[in-house]
Parts: sequence; structure tokens; C-alpha cells
Amino acid sequence: MNKEQTRPGRPRPDIAALSAYVPGRSVEEVQRRYGLDDVARLASNENPVGPSPRAVAAATAVLAASNRYPDGASTALRERLATVYRLAPANVIVGNGSDEIILLLALAYLRPGETAVMAAPPYAIHRSAVAIAGGAVAGVALKDHVHDLDAMADAVGEDTKLVFVANPHNPTGTHLDRDALRRFAAHIPARTLLVVDEAYHDYVDDAARHTARDLLDDYPNVVTLRTFSKAHGLAGLRAGYALAHEDVVGMLDRIRPPFDLNIAAQAAALAALDDDAHVRHVARENRAGRARLMAIARRHGLTTVPSEANFVLMRVDDSLALTEALMARGVIVRPGENLGMPGWIRVSVGTSDDLDRFERAMELVESR
Ligand code: PLP
Repeated sequence: MNKEQTRPGRPRPDIAALSAYVPGRSVEEVQRRYGLDDVARLASNENPVGPSPRAVAAATAVLAASNRYPDGASTALRERLATVYRLAPANVIVGNGSDEIILLLALAYLRPGETAVMAAPPYAIHRSAVAIAGGAVAGVALKDHVHDLDAMADAVGEDTKLVFVANPHNPTGTHLDRDALRRFAAHIPARTLLVVDEAYHDYVDDAARHTARDLLDDYPNVVTLRTFSKAHGLAGLRAGYALAHEDVVGMLDRIRPPFDLNIAAQAAALAALDDDAHVRHVARENRAGRARLMAIARRHGLTTVPSEANFVLMRVDDSLALTEALMARGVIVRPGENLGMPGWIRVSVGTSDDLDRFERAMELVESR
């Protein structure tokens, strides 16, 4: 048999042409490769503080009921979120991480060939979701690392069904102010959904923080995405949500896997919502860590992008070589080559021990 005959199945050619997502390297992989005991993982924008102890207790308490399917509608969590955001439960959908909701939005709203407008570079999952749905990406170059909202509004055409804005943006960490986003929403036609992904919302400085939820009352085509993976520290359990018009929620409900949020994730997310003090603590720690990363970069003469998130982009001479050199010294950062920002590294805020390690590794690399 020749190779073609032995290949199982006939995938969609557009799916066969995609590449699999490249995650940040794991601690275990780097420990093994370099024979290291301690490794700081600063590549995946994780929360170094950890989850709320209340969330851990709530998740643990439900494990004995793992023989039962979860509540497929995540009723308690949806109701609680609706109360928090002064909406009806019909305006809330939860997902297996906000990444799942991004995919559902693309599948529900894009017909093959229809367009989604987003920044270039975008958050990678915004782009891959559109590709999976068979849609076309209209990437609009960032201007000084910030969404170019005028150019994005101009890029919206008859066949544009989705517009993605990450606020703060990943990979840059830049943030759009309230007025700019509201003006932009006013330019997006009703036939097009404006999806504002607020994964890093809780890290934005208090004075600047605002939410696209407030646009929903005036613009029913605005979808706000949030996650429990960042400030709530539940990335490993996978829980995210969207606040949207009930018609949008209804469309996503039609196509989502019926039990996408497991019982531990539902319980932990519900408990995490009641621990505001933990989120505030995480945000404070993050602010200090972000300032420290900026100071380290400054000391090494590296340009940074002002960040309102839990990571900092740094311009370096050779990002791939530096990423390797840092890894050999027990620090995992993300090379910009993976993120559409060649020549930069993205460094997530870690614990103060992690940042000590990063600081030492940078000094060693420089003194080579
Ligand atoms: N949206 C943005 C902009 C992100 O950067 C991330 C994670 O890095 C997510 C969504 C993913 O969130 P979740 O873990 O809820 O899928």
C-alpha cells in the first residue's frame, strides 16, 4: 500500500493546513533537559499567587460526587454571574475556559469565507477559532502596540460577522480607555458582533478599569468575555464566561458540548466569585511584580510596552537565543516569534522568587 492509501480518513483540507497550538514549555520538560531542580515558568501568563483557598475547598468538596454528570446549564454559577453583572441568567454563558466560548462564537457566527476583524498580532485563539470555523481573518496592524480602532472600524465590511478586541491585549498588555471603546462600538453595525475579551480585566489599574459589559445596554451586539484563569487563579480547572444578548447566548447554547464545565470547575468558580479580597490581593501582587519586571528591563536597557496585564513585553537583540539562554538558567519566557512579535520576549509576572531568578538569569546572560 502506498502512503496515501494508508492515511486514515480525509480531513478538511483547511484543517489539515492548520498548525497545532504551541504552548509554553512545561517546568518538567525544562528540568529534565537542563538537569535543574527549580524552574520559574513565566511563559503562560498564569497567576503565581494561586487560587482562593475557598475555591480549592469548594472544588475538593464536590469530588466525591464525580460519578454524577455536572449540571449542564451551570445554573448556580450563571445565576450568580447574572447577579454580579445586573443581568438575567439568559445573558450569561459559561464555558470550558473562555477559549471554548471564542470557538463557539466563531462556529455560530461565521460561515465559511466570512470575515472576522482582529488586531495583528491577535490573541492566538481568536485567530485559530476563526480558521477552525472556515472563516477569514482580517488582521489590522497594531499602532504603537495598541489596537488601531479607526483602521479596524474601516476594515469591517458586509461579510464581517465578528470583531475581536482583547482589552488588555495579549501579547502586548496595552489597554483601551472607556471612551475609545464606546466610540468604536458605535461604529460596528448590528449584524456584526463586537467581542471584547477581558481576560486580564482585574489587573488593570483601578482608575483605568472599565468593562464592555456597560456597552451591552446600548449595543446588544457587544459580547464581553471573562475568565477565571487569571486573577482568580483557576487556569487548570478551565472556566470562563461571556455576558451577551440572550439571542447570542441562545446560539452558543445550541452548539456547546452539554457538560463542558465539570463539577469541580463550577464549584470553584462559584466560590472564587465570593472572594473579592483574594482577587484584590492578586492584583496588588501583580502590580508590584509588573513594576519589578519593568525595572529589570530598564536596567538592561530594554524597551518595554506599558502593560495593564500580568506580563511585560521586552525588546531584545535575539529573542530566540535569549529565550534558550534563560531556559538553561531555569527561567521559561515566551519568545515573541510564537506570538507574532519577533525580536521581543513576553515575560509573565511570577512570585518574588521567580522574579529573583529572572533577574539573576538576565545578569548571567548579559555577563557571558
Ligand atoms: N483571552 C485572552 C486574551 C487570553 O490571553 C487568554 C489566556 O491566555 C484567554 C482568553 C484564555 O482564557 P481561558 O483560560 O479562560 O481559556
